[in-house]
Amino acid sequence: MLSEHHDEDTQIAPLYGTRAMVDPIPKWQLSEGEMPAAAAYQIVHDELALDGNPLLNLASFVTTWMDPEAEKLMLETMPKNFVDAPEYPQTAELERRCVSIIADLFNADATGDTAVGTSTIGSSEAVHLAGLALKWNWRKRREAAGKPTTQPNIVTGSNVQVVWEKFARYFDVELRFVNMTPERTVIGVPEAKALVDENTIAVVGILGSTYTGEFEPIKELDTMLQALNAETGWDVPLHVDAASGGFVAPFAYPELEWDFRLPTVKSINVSGHKYGLVYPGVGWAVWRSRAELPDELLFHDAYLGEDQITFNLNFSKASNQVVGQYYNFLRLGRDGYTRIMQGLLSTSNYIADLAESSGHFHVISARDALPLVTVTLKNDEHYSCHDLSDKLRERGWIVPAYALPPDADEIDCLRVVVREGFSRDMADRLMEDVTRAVDHLNERPPVQPKRVKHKRSAHHVC
Ligand SMILES: *Cc1c(COP(=O)(O)O)cnc(C)c1O
Repeated sequence: MLSEHHDEDTQIAPLYGTRAMVDPIPKWQLSEGEMPAAAAYQIVHDELALDGNPLLNLASFVTTWMDPEAEKLMLETMPKNFVDAPEYPQTAELERRCVSIIADLFNADATGDTAVGTSTIGSSEAVHLAGLALKWNWRKRREAAGKPTTQPNIVTGSNVQVVWEKFARYFDVELRFVNMTPERTVIGVPEAKALVDENTIAVVGILGSTYTGEFEPIKELDTMLQALNAETGWDVPLHVDAASGGFVAPFAYPELEWDFRLPTVKSINVSGHKYGLVYPGVGWAVWRSRAELPDELLFHDAYLGEDQITFNLNFSKASNQVVGQYYNFLRLGRDGYTRIMQGLLSTSNYIADLAESSGHFHVISARDALPLVTVTLKNDEHYSCHDLSDKLRERGWIVPAYALPPDADEIDCLRVVVREGFSRDMADRLMEDVTRAVDHLNERPPVQPKRVKHKRSAHHVC
């Protein structure tokens, strides 16, 4: 967050018993003196009580609960800088095992090649890395053919997460959107085809749209690209943004073909901190083979005669994220992840049933996709999804309201993401509060229903 302070109130003066708590403390400058650790702890702890409760935050895909044993391990490994592989070779080894496990989940063995990958800070870093590799590979193909290399583009649906806009802007790639329609809330295959040309570095398919949880037609995109490449002599690859679905599909829908089984899928990103079930800060980028990684983007460190290759945007980072991911793999195994994903889906389908039978909502999310529920109001004449979201906030529930992306941005919806820790009992409590909020809004509708236009970089859709 880019922070700027413009607050008239410049001091913190909490009224607790100790001296440190009575003296005013500057808020925007470093204070002169020290204070006891207990007092500093209490001040920060109390301020953070103003945040929402993560358990009731149904806006986020990001993990809010882990085993106490995972927390213990992650606390123990916090002092290790991940980048110091020579000093912490076993941490580096755990990353290699995680990459191998993830590549295997994504059926990399089907390629007959050896997949490569890296841990990242969430899918965002992974997307930047994958995007850069795609851009470099495209440029090399163009240079080899003696063609211009000045106008790369990338094709995605307008439901794409903001990180792709960042990638396009930061790295000078034209972003070509297939717009949604009210009937088609994912990318359209013929529509994507129409946008592809010789300067297309990749088409992106999203495994789990943030808006409706739907899986995009990735197999159909692959079929389209195979035919188009054969016809034109181009070599346009497919990248799968599996930030949210990459740890759902292999367990809940093993038959769904979306990964390295499809020949044009060259790289995949996934967020370890979403359905990988790790606290925020970890993602993964995986390529189907080493050949997809241009040498110019890799950095080599010689360590004990061993060639350590890195491909990352940042240098130092905590080790505990990778450790937490490995812990989950070890602890849960395939059965554990499958049981959790099926449990989450049964809860999300239960909420969808309740929402439908309430008579107030249309459910627009798919049941055979991510464990989330997106609804629109059947009648939003007197109050909007935003009013209902605000009303639910009074009870502590964080249920975001937002407009769908263009050209479906006339549609306002509410979304509930089901994560581990959200029980069926909580779902009942939520739906009781929804009913109460709807009744209240029907009895006392706002003077003017709250409308908010689609904001592409909406923070809550993450
Ligand atoms: C969450 C998300 C991202 C961004 O991932 P982070 O792990 O939050 O950096 C990108 N794409 C999709 C589809 C997402 O759901």
